[in-house]
Amino acid sequence: MKRFTIGAGAAALLAGAVWAQGTAPAAPAETTTYVQAGALLDRPGQRARGASTIVVRGGKIVEVRDGFSGGESGSRVVDLRDRYVLPGLIDMHVHLFSTGRPLEQRLQEPFQEKEDDAYEGLRNAEKTLMAGFTTVRDLGSDGPAITSLRDVILAGEHPGPTVVPAARMVSVSGGHGDVNGYNRTLTGAYAAERDNVCDGPDDCRRAVRRQVSAGAEVIKFAASGGVGSNVAGGLGRQMFDDEMKAIVDTARLFGRKVAAHAHGADGVKAALRAGVDTIEHGSYVDEEAIRLFKQGDAYFVPTMLAFQSVVEQAKRGERPPASTAKALEVEKVAFRNIGNAIRSGVRVAFGTDSGVGQHGINAREFKLMVDAGMAPTEAIKSATVNAADAIGRSASIGTIEPGKDADIIAVSGDPIADVTRLQNVDFVMRRGAVHKLGGRKVLAE
Ligand SMILES: [Zn+2]
Repeated sequence: MKRFTIGAGAAALLAGAVWAQGTAPAAPAETTTYVQAGALLDRPGQRARGASTIVVRGGKIVEVRDGFSGGESGSRVVDLRDRYVLPGLIDMHVHLFSTGRPLEQRLQEPFQEKEDDAYEGLRNAEKTLMAGFTTVRDLGSDGPAITSLRDVILAGEHPGPTVVPAARMVSVSGGHGDVNGYNRTLTGAYAAERDNVCDGPDDCRRAVRRQVSAGAEVIKFAASGGVGSNVAGGLGRQMFDDEMKAIVDTARLFGRKVAAHAHGADGVKAALRAGVDTIEHGSYVDEEAIRLFKQGDAYFVPTMLAFQSVVEQAKRGERPPASTAKALEVEKVAFRNIGNAIRSGVRVAFGTDSGVGQHGINAREFKLMVDAGMAPTEAIKSATVNAADAIGRSASIGTIEPGKDADIIAVSGDPIADVTRLQNVDFVMRRGAVHKLGGRKVLAE
């Protein structure tokens, strides 16, 4: 049986805590936890509450009360009376197996085993959770590897966020999600174990079904070229209408939502017309694309942190020539175009593309959103209420309300007054298990 051990500083914050003997942190089913919050943004987008108590049992929120209460024998109290409490954050776009160090990754790739990737994924999942992100979509990883990581986390065996996996990104031959830039021997070897590349609608149906069979809970496809791929194909559209339609229709048959990687405005618009749920990146989004966003239900996931990372990496010479050229090209326009879309009021869901840059700094995206013209309260809503809706999990995450998962974080001070406060999350609870307290990791033995 597991029990908590915490540092002295963290223990001091647990005023009146009674940690039930022999209770596993991942499943404190019988224990009632009272999270006492100095301020509580229970429903981002609406006004924050003052002093409140969140009652948690069996990994769920059972009640939210005004004022401070709780502490009867057998219960535990988490004292966040001097903290600002809000729902666990959601990142719509990460790659947990990518290091964020592209040069090193390229040098090591021929010598790495899949098992090495697995340990990288465990480390990145933990960094992400400790940064306050309790749910992520992984938009491009080996299917069996990412579902295995998802399940280890779900079982409470390793700290990490709830993972919604896409398996591999569906792509056309020579496209952003194909194997590219290697010599012919390595290209053949890598291509042999990939099932995400398709040409023509029938083939694209097959590719979607293969990702579902590999564990995809959401389908991602490359509607346009990408900055990170080592192929000089630009950032324009890469897929025909019938291919995109086949992907979306097939995903719907399996009840999956669809995310489209799209930079060029032609790719963004074609994907929106095909009926995708989210547009990732959107660096060349124009007036017509903004109009299409507003006509439909799709969310825009800008991933500005990734743009910042790829440009820095390109300038340091860490990216291959084809990728460097695209990074320097996109830098000229992306922030302006994304800012236009944000200020025009398209629906935005928070995403960082972490793995392109380093993991665990996801919350830096909030500052970029605010700098691009988004109100802080909207930025926080994009990472909670909106992201939960865009994933299709509004019933379980995104707000702090009875019946929802007890995914709860805290910062010191009001993040609406200063969104950079979200870069220092000092309390993290996921599904009722406390993973970080007083800024320190809570260890499970
Ligand atoms: Zn990505």
